[in-house]
Amino acid sequence: MPSVMGKRFECSDHGAQYMVTKAGAGDLSCTDAGQDGPNQLGKRYQCATCEATLLCTKAGTGIVCCDGAPMALLAAKTLPSSD
Ligand SMILES: [Zn+2]
Ligand SMILES: [Zn+2]
Repeated sequence: MPSVMGKRFECSDHGAQYMVTKAGAGDLSCTDAGQDGPNQLGKRYQCATCEATLLCTKAGTGIVCCDGAPMALLAAKTLPSSD
């Protein structure tokens, strides 16, 4: 399914759930977790191509993909250190 803001993406095979926090043009799917492990609860994942962003609301055993490519963990923005 294409990512629509506020929509939930549920992965029944891997038991994971995601909330779309930014819409994108790509098609969402999922695959088995690789060496980096499954998606983690409370983390955001972003598509490098269409910039769709998903929040993991339930951790499972898989990773979310956009147009077949695994979405990358979106690092939390940190304030620049003052030293
Ligand atoms: Zn899955
Ligand atoms: Zn995408």
